[in-house]
Amino acid sequence: MPRLAVIGHPIAHSLSPAMQNAALRELGLAGEWSYEALDVVPGEFAKTVRRLSQGGFTGVNVTIPHKRDAFEIADDPSAAVRAIGAANTLSFGGGRIAAENTDAPGLIAALPEGADGRRALVLGAGGAARAAAWALADAGAEVWVWNRTPERAERLARDLGVRPVEPDTSHPATEISRYELIVNATSVGLEPPGREGADLKALRLDADSLNERHLVVDLVYGSSDTELVRAARRGGANVVDGREVLVQQGAASLRIWTGREPPLEAMRRAIQANPGEPEPADER
Ligand code: NAP
Repeated sequence: MPRLAVIGHPIAHSLSPAMQNAALRELGLAGEWSYEALDVVPGEFAKTVRRLSQGGFTGVNVTIPHKRDAFEIADDPSAAVRAIGAANTLSFGGGRIAAENTDAPGLIAALPEGADGRRALVLGAGGAARAAAWALADAGAEVWVWNRTPERAERLARDLGVRPVEPDTSHPATEISRYELIVNATSVGLEPPGREGADLKALRLDADSLNERHLVVDLVYGSSDTELVRAARRGGANVVDGREVLVQQGAASLRIWTGREPPLEAMRRAIQANPGEPEPADER
């Protein structure tokens, strides 16, 4: 029986088991395949992955805080993984570990229209921002990166061949009209609603400047809409929330392991039925 899992620490909050098991059921694979959550502390990651790769597992998703380690343990990292420097999908076979980063194609698949030629602003410079900036640039977008700590945005931009928002003008709100696509890849938005304005202030975004010409993607998801998503909707922007990106990255992983076309609607229903807690994002 092929086994799959998501490895992280902590992992109890993860929606992936509910989502992936729903997909396996819909595909008629539930009696054959299974997907579970494994809480693995950082020092145990490499040992655990080697044991799983030799013991009945077909592959694993990897989340906080192991995505960098997942790249480093891989025998066969994809070009995207090498560029981004992180992997979230490992596949085992022939005594080797292959690594993919499905956060990147997951983001692109979640967009209602292509990114080619679009001016995109990525907020953040952590693992999710690296995957988003790489994916958008690869899809033909012109990408700028803003981060609270400008040095990290500069480093990301250098590594991936995109542009940092200049530190001395690092106030995207003043120039928000320059961008058609805005992706929040920071961890801002995880706090429960109630401090209206605080998240947009942290992201230096002016809610009034979001309008119907913008497509806003918020990678952050929790049990309710983030402040950015609410503000973008109010302004008439087109919005993609973090749950849709979660579904699409999970679908891309499932496609790699099973070779089957993932049942997106069943996956969406599964995460709607499991509102879950906000995902922690200390590192990725
Ligand atoms: P990370 O590596 O820890 O990076 C966090 C980023 O957030 C950094 O750029 C950090 O800026 C910024 N940040 C944190 N607090 C801030 C604040 N108060 N004001 C302004 N910026 C702040 O995290 P990550 O792994 O990239 O993940 C980021 C988010 O994406 C998480 O919420 C994660 O759950 C989500 N995510 C979702 C999906 C999905 O499928 N929907 C996939 C991947 C990630 P500094 O550099 O200045 O510290």
